[in-house]
Amino acid sequence: MRILLDESQLNEGVERLAAEIDSHYGDRPLTVIAIMTGSLVLFADLIRRLSMPQRVGVVRASSYRGGMKSGELTVDAQMMIDVTNRDVLLVDDIFDTGKTLDRLSGMMHEFGAASVKSAVLLHKRTDHVVELRPDFRAFEIPDEFVVGYGLDYLDMFRNLPYLAVLEPAEIEKTAAEAKS
Ligand code: 5GP
Ligand code: MG
Ligand code: MG
Repeated sequence: MRILLDESQLNEGVERLAAEIDSHYGDRPLTVIAIMTGSLVLFADLIRRLSMPQRVGVVRASSYRGGMKSGELTVDAQMMIDVTNRDVLLVDDIFDTGKTLDRLSGMMHEFGAASVKSAVLLHKRTDHVVELRPDFRAFEIPDEFVVGYGLDYLDMFRNLPYLAVLEPAEIEKTAAEAKS
């Protein structure tokens, strides 16, 4: 695989993200929501660097039906916590078309949030199909399919401590193993 961002670059990016979020909210209590599963690793690193009092919750969104192409978005809010009158920060791994964050910020407003902002580690240089843009973001990356640091291909590679682009042979091997 080809490494796009190594461990120390990711570390520095999360540090920057936390500093921006801290300086925006100050000591105001924040309800921080992880968009599972891709934001799992980022989320754990990020919330420990934020200084304000926090409520923490998760919501699950998926649009990659077992592959690399984005499909229909499904949201599972069963594990959501109460956000009524709360300042909410949605955390996702990557902003691509923008449909995920757009849908979820709409949902948070429907649930009665006082304010909704979003933070992502990665922002893809591509055609976004929504007007919303993430309020906080650490890195701009080219329009390539990336894995590691929480991001998967067929549920693999989330555990890698770096961000990488898979070689064609690794893609084939992973797809073949997923079928067996
Ligand atoms: P969007 O809704 O903005 O198009 O896509 C956001 C979601 O798609 C992310 O939460 C992530 O799960 C997935 N995604 C987008 N680009 C990539 C990518 O390059 N690699 C992986 N593994 N997932 C991606
Ligand atoms: Mg996701
Ligand atoms: Mg995925």
